[in-house]
Order: sequence, then C-alpha cells, then structure tokens
Amino acid sequence: MSKNVLIVGAGLGGLATALRLAKKGHKVEIIEKNSQAGGRLNQIKKDGFTFDTGPSFFSMSFEFKEFAKDCNIDLPFKYIELDPLYTVNFSDNPKTFYLYKDIKKLAAQFKDVEPDFEERMTNYLKNSGALFHDTVDLVIKNNFDSVFSYIVTLMRVNPTHIPVLFRSFYQEVKRNFNSKEARQIVSLVAFFLGRTPFDTMAIYTLLSYTEFKHDGYFNVEGGMYKITEGIVNELLKENVKITYNTEIVDFVGNGKKLEYLIDSKGQKWSSDIILVNGDAAVFRSRVFKREKYALEKLDKMNWTMGYLTFYVGLKCKLPQVNHHNYYLGSNFEEYANNVLQNPDSLQKPYYYVNVLSKYNLECAPEGCESLFFVCPVPNLQHKPNWDDKDEIVNSIIADFSKRIDKNIEPEIVSKTIYTPLEWQDQFNLHRGSGLGLSHSMNQIGAFRPSNFDEKFKNVYYVGASTIPGAGLPMAIISSKLAFQRIEKHK
Ligand SMILES: Cc1cc2nc3c(=O)[nH]c(=O)nc-3n(C[C@H](O)[C@H](O)[C@H](O)COP(=O)(O)OP(=O)(O)OC[C@H]3O[C@@H](n4cnc5c(N)ncnc54)[C@H](O)[C@@H]3O)c2cc1C
Repeated sequence: MSKNVLIVGAGLGGLATALRLAKKGHKVEIIEKNSQAGGRLNQIKKDGFTFDTGPSFFSMSFEFKEFAKDCNIDLPFKYIELDPLYTVNFSDNPKTFYLYKDIKKLAAQFKDVEPDFEERMTNYLKNSGALFHDTVDLVIKNNFDSVFSYIVTLMRVNPTHIPVLFRSFYQEVKRNFNSKEARQIVSLVAFFLGRTPFDTMAIYTLLSYTEFKHDGYFNVEGGMYKITEGIVNELLKENVKITYNTEIVDFVGNGKKLEYLIDSKGQKWSSDIILVNGDAAVFRSRVFKREKYALEKLDKMNWTMGYLTFYVGLKCKLPQVNHHNYYLGSNFEEYANNVLQNPDSLQKPYYYVNVLSKYNLECAPEGCESLFFVCPVPNLQHKPNWDDKDEIVNSIIADFSKRIDKNIEPEIVSKTIYTPLEWQDQFNLHRGSGLGLSHSMNQIGAFRPSNFDEKFKNVYYVGASTIPGAGLPMAIISSKLAFQRIEKHK
C-alpha cells in the first residue's frame, strides 16, 4: 500500500531513502534547511572554481551498486578506482609513500624500515578481513528492535574476535608492525571515523581490509557532488518535491503520533510517516526536546572531532602534488592524543589535501588548480573560539608550500574557510562535530540513537548518528535499514 512520507533533510541518507521509497510507489516529499541538497556531501562554486565541501572519496562501492539495483536504475554517477589510494608525507622524511593496493608494490616502499612488511600486511589484512566478513551482514547491515536482540546477534559473531574488543586500533596495528612509518600509515584510516587510532576500537581495523583489499577507494568523475546531483535527478523523475530553505524547529504530537512539524517561519508540515535525516541525536534534542537528549546530556556523549576545511583556488597548476595527500608531522602519538581536546596541538597541524582539478579539469579555470584542505581539529566543546582561523590556515598554507617546494600564497585567487562553527550552523551538527556521534562501544548498534522513534510510532531516522554510522557507504546502508522499517510500518 502506498504511504505518504515526509523526509526532513536532503543529505545522502535522506535522498537515498527517498529514492528507494519513491521507486516502490510511495509518495515522498523532502524539506531541507539549506538552499541546495547534499548535506555534508555538498559543493561550493566560487570564482570560477568548483570544490567538494566534505567527502572526497568513498569505499564499499558495492553498496552503491546494490542501491542502484534496489532502485532499478543505472548508478547516476561514474566512479573511478583510486590506485594509489593516497600519498602520505612525513615532515621528518623526504620520501612520499604511495599507498598502492598491490601489497608487493606497497611493501617495496617499506623495505628500509620494515623489511618483512609484505608478510606482516598480508597477515594483518587476513585478520581484518575476517572481522569484516564476520560482522558486516550480521551487525552492520541489520536493524535491531532491542538491546537484547543486538546482544543475541553479537553472540553469533565468531568468538575469535573477542580480544579485539579490548584493544585500541593503534594497539592492534602495533602488534602487527614494528616501524613507526607502517604503524602510522596503517592506522590513519581510524581518523576517517572521526576519532584517533588511540581511542578507536580495534574492531575498526576491518576498515584496513576495505581500503587495501576488499574494494578500495573511489573518486567520482566530475567531483563527489555528482552523487548528490545524480540522485536528485532520479528523484525529480519520480516527481519527488524538494523544498529548500526550510528548517524544522518544533512539532505537535498527539499521544504516540506526531501530528505535524513546524518550520522556522511557522509553516506546518504533516504526513503519515516522517523520516528525519537531520542528526538523530540533535533532532531529538532540539526539535522533540527529549529529556534524554537535553543539551548537557548531548555534551556528555562521545562526539567525533571537528574539521577545519578550506577551499583554495590557485592561478597556477601543481603538477608535483598528487590527487589525495596526507601531510603528517613527526609527533604522531602526541598529536593524536591531543588533537581532539587540546587546541594548542594545532600549532603543528596535520592535514589532508585533495586536488580536485587534477583529474576533473572542469573544476578550475584553465591553468588553475582547485584545492581542498581538511585539518582534524577539536570540536566546539573543546575549542569554541575560532577567531584565530586565518592564522591557523596561513600556517598550514606555509607548511604545505614548504613541503611541495613552491610558495602558493601569491597564487591564491579564491579562499573559503569552514571552521567547526560553519559546519555546526550549516548542517545542525552538535558542537560542529564533523561525523556526528563517535563509534564507541556504547554508541554503536542498538546503543546508537535508533532509527525508529521511542515515542512517535510514525517517525523514523536515517543518517550518520543513527545506525550503522558515519561515511557515505554507511549512509547508503542506513537508507536501506530505514526503508525496511518504513515498508513494515502499519
Ligand atoms: C570534512 C568532511 C569530510 C568527509 N569525508 C568523507 C569521505 O571522504 N568519505 C566518506 O565516505 N565520508 C566522508 N565524510 C562523512 C560524510 O560526509 C557523512 O557521513 C555523510 O555525508 C552524512 O550524510 P547524512 O545523510 O547522514 O547527513 P547530512 O549530510 O548531514 O544531511 C542531513 C541534512 O539534514 C538537514 N537538516 C538538519 N536538520 C534539519 C532541520 N531541522 N530541518 C531541515 N533540514 C535539516 C541538513 O541541512 C542536511 O542537509 C566527511 C565528512 C566531513 C564533514
């Protein structure tokens, strides 16, 4: 039977669920706070340059393929496999490490510091692969109705994995590799979960398997925003209406039913079913004003780090810089242990640089380059004041110029900076936390804010702070889980 569904938020989670539902004949409408779709998967067009604002590559391409198959469409964007995945540069080592998927080619780069790297990496990936395959269908791609059903499911996971529950990502990596270079490079992926390898559980070493072995990383032809544009086009074909510049701020409920939502201009929005794509904890706090999610309780939850991102247009090319690059200092452990909470650690920032125009020439004027910098920083809980943003950005630009042996400062013709304040305000992210709730033991599976509402039987959730978690493939999985719930809704 066809249902009416109103979706609050046009991030990837909301868009993907909308398409799944519309393709099954449900009547779907979307409202979005901002003036364009995509949420964090967004785009800035400025001064003739195009920049992706958040994600710059994705893993688990098979989830996107499955999504297209479920919706009976061809995937509405083209993706390209990355190999090397990215480069890593240390401040105290002139060598650039190329992260090839071919383990022999990768190992060759570690021959001076870790001569048996190939054997060690093969063994490490065997274990992380077993973790991936033993949990992905059972735990990650599953709806749980209760904590009890979640625990029962966990008990079905192969018990050989129990020891990793008691180790950090870095401890697991340390057991497998001896050199500081291998340890730091292999544990970088923990930052992609919005925390550091020192406070991320070792079960997430399964990400090493997804990056190096199982599937790898992918870029999107024309930039990551093509994902958003492609899905929006498919939605338009299905007559799904998206209303922009509309932020939900209040509600009226009647017992177990949400009667309607109210936007900031006082307009009422009602539907049989409401799907919330705004952050699942923040929405319960700000809109539903739930006691369990009161501001002081949100602050006690475990949030991911903030990001200082900046988007720079240059009036020159940078042939010496690769597509995806990490620039690390020489104090990895000290830095990682401080970066989430201690703003002083920013004196020597670590950062990532993406050159979007390298393979997407249309993203910069001729002879120019479009750069995107991401620097992990404390979120607003630990660094509320960003008056020093220009100083920090300038220090990163100076460091980058030194590392690539070219002063880019005089070449800059466009610059946009997002601190955690901008991330917070644009997308309603708690304290500017870039990826939402972190993935600590007590905040995953049935312990994460659920994708069905505790009180209103006609409200569901999709996106990074509900199950399964952060990242683009997780948003796609989350859309499938939310879709399954709505399909079952009576
Ligand atoms: C800097 C950065 C880099 C990243 N890099 C990568 C990467 O390389 N690869 C990867 O896989 N992932 C990456 N991610 C993570 C990825 O972007 C997110 O996990 C994903 O985009 C989240 O999608 P979502 O649908 O859950 O939420 P969102 O994208 O946040 O969408 C939610 C939408 O809801 C809207 N909204 C919120 N509240 C309301 C309201 N009250 N009323 C109306 N609308 C509302 C918001 O405006 C937003 O459009 C990155 C994230 C950041 C911040």
